[in-house]
Amino acid sequence: MDDKEVRADIQPSAAKADIAPAPLPKPPVQYSPDGRWFWNGTKWILAEAVVAANPGTCMVCGAAPARLVTFRSVLAFVVFGITTTKRGVYCRNCGISEFRMQMNRTLLLGWWGIIHFFVNIFAIITNLDSRSLLMRLGPPTNAPSATPLALGRPVFLRPGFLLSVGLPALVVIILISLPPPKPFPAADQALIGTCAQKSGTQWSAVDCSANHNGKVVSLASDSSGCSSQETPAKLDDGNYTCIDTSQ
Ligand SMILES: [Zn+2]
Repeated sequence: MDDKEVRADIQPSAAKADIAPAPLPKPPVQYSPDGRWFWNGTKWILAEAVVAANPGTCMVCGAAPARLVTFRSVLAFVVFGITTTKRGVYCRNCGISEFRMQMNRTLLLGWWGIIHFFVNIFAIITNLDSRSLLMRLGPPTNAPSATPLALGRPVFLRPGFLLSVGLPALVVIILISLPPPKPFPAADQALIGTCAQKSGTQWSAVDCSANHNGKVVSLASDSSGCSSQETPAKLDDGNYTCIDTSQ
């Protein structure tokens, strides 16, 4: 018989039990992972019904008070998007921990769609509303074995918030630091109000009292800068006159 087997036969002494007490039993997690269902021992029933009948205990740690709240997060990709709804019965600590996780996720991934941009705003409002419901609960008690989720960093110190606020701020900074558009040379500006005659593809300046095909109404730095009703005509310096052919 080797050493290992001898040791296995030694019964733990009372003294040893004092040194390393057996861990207290953890409360059973009776809710489904999405928080919508509750296992009552024989069958799954709707979590709402449980909470209505009995002000719940936290589905994560078993502490009370707890309440049913909803968190949403959005994953958006241009025209596609996935909205995840998580309903659950949470104590204040576990709920705030979940809130911070879902908010960070939706602030990070929810902005990148056309329709889901607005769905994301709705998700953020839902999460903030749930947070305010959770903050009205007292601190989790009544469960000595309860180990609530770690709160983690506040939302405003997480990447989602920094991206949601930082990116628009960066765009604004870039826009206001861009140089103003260069004004058109005086010679070009003097053309506004003059009339032009077209021969072939070339436009030439003519007196407005004489026969003309149009009037210069504005200037543009490229041919797409004129409105759709105006005809662009390139000048020698690369700018364009926009000619209104109805005048
Ligand atoms: Zn909890």
